[in-house]
Amino acid sequence: MSTIFSKIINREIPADIVYETENVLAFRDINPQAPVHILIIPKIEISKVTDIKTPEHSHLMGEMIEAANKIAKQENISETGFRLVFNCGDDSGQDVYHLHLHLLGGRKLSWPPG
Ligand code: 5GP
Repeated sequence: MSTIFSKIINREIPADIVYETENVLAFRDINPQAPVHILIIPKIEISKVTDIKTPEHSHLMGEMIEAANKIAKQENISETGFRLVFNCGDDSGQDVYHLHLHLLGGRKLSWPPG
């Protein structure tokens, strides 16, 4: 089922887009939890990590990590460090059921997460 992120992909609602390729889009989170908080998403609709099932999906995951590395450089947090997070399912707190990779950085992040 389509989510708000499909509307961002289709430019039906605005977003602060920081990176785009044929298959991947990245934009700033509307409710940032760190100075840098960017969401990296595939343009095709995959709901969550447990729906990653095909070699094409796995390749797409690689493209998302590649995007994260490039954006981290753009945002000058590549050297200081950052965190990549996929929430999957209700217990993780996943709200939007369109696969997304959180890129968080720009401050010291605590561990373990809540
Ligand atoms: P989740 O909890 O599903 O892992 O994360 C969803 C993220 O999407 C949240 O951090 C939330 O702030 C962000 N988000 C939800 N709706 C929008 C929106 O319309 N625009 C943007 N830029 N971010 C959104």
